[in-house]
Amino acid sequence: MKDTNEMRTLALIGGMSWESTALYYSGLNRGVAEKMGGLHSAPLLMASVDFQKIVDYQLSDQWDKAGCELADLAKRLEDAGADAIALAVNTMHKVADPIRDAVSIPFLDIREALGTALTSTGADKAVLLGTNYVAREDYYFGQVGARLAGEMKLSLLPDDEQSFVHDIIYGELAKGEVSPVTRQKIANGISRVVSEQGVGAVALACTELPMLDLGKLLPDLPIADSTNAHIAACVNFITNS
Ligand code: GLU
Repeated sequence: MKDTNEMRTLALIGGMSWESTALYYSGLNRGVAEKMGGLHSAPLLMASVDFQKIVDYQLSDQWDKAGCELADLAKRLEDAGADAIALAVNTMHKVADPIRDAVSIPFLDIREALGTALTSTGADKAVLLGTNYVAREDYYFGQVGARLAGEMKLSLLPDDEQSFVHDIIYGELAKGEVSPVTRQKIANGISRVVSEQGVGAVALACTELPMLDLGKLLPDLPIADSTNAHIAACVNFITNS
């Protein structure tokens, strides 16, 4: 058993949505227990925001304002003693820079965690699913794609299917609703790009998507899940491993 004193405190900014932050909370604690043994659990400072407010900023294109508020929270968590910051959401990494600039502790970026998980699938081509911001903008799809260039090509579902994924993230998953019809429809879309475009892995670039448990319907397809990958990177930071 390792000594608890070796552990570092992680500040988690969540609530986007709280359904996925609940996955982080259990995942971080289970991950630390697995590494440290006994009754060890994750030393955390947490801030959970009102998701409606964040979605309103997204819809009204007020990303700067969202960035200022999240950066302010990050600074307060650093002042409260955090050793690193993690933002438990892919989409809001659009404002990763102002958050990083506001603190002097490390920012554990979900894009890097997903990139590492994708590389370890060994596939030549992967399809990325997430909100339309993540899927269609440079700060996410572009940057992750560029990081993987040479190793793997990133692609997207056809436009209407990608937009369906976007809509169910806000309309169902973020409200805790998991519909078998939705799950099947998304799995079918992924299967189509596997057979028609030679896709060999799927990137779940949305922290709610693991709620769909797509692995049950696509048992042979490697899945790089941003939530799990980010949690694993955070556990490594906390436990210094
Ligand atoms: N949690 C989702 C993500 O990982 C979407 C929620 C949001 O728009 O902030 O991107």
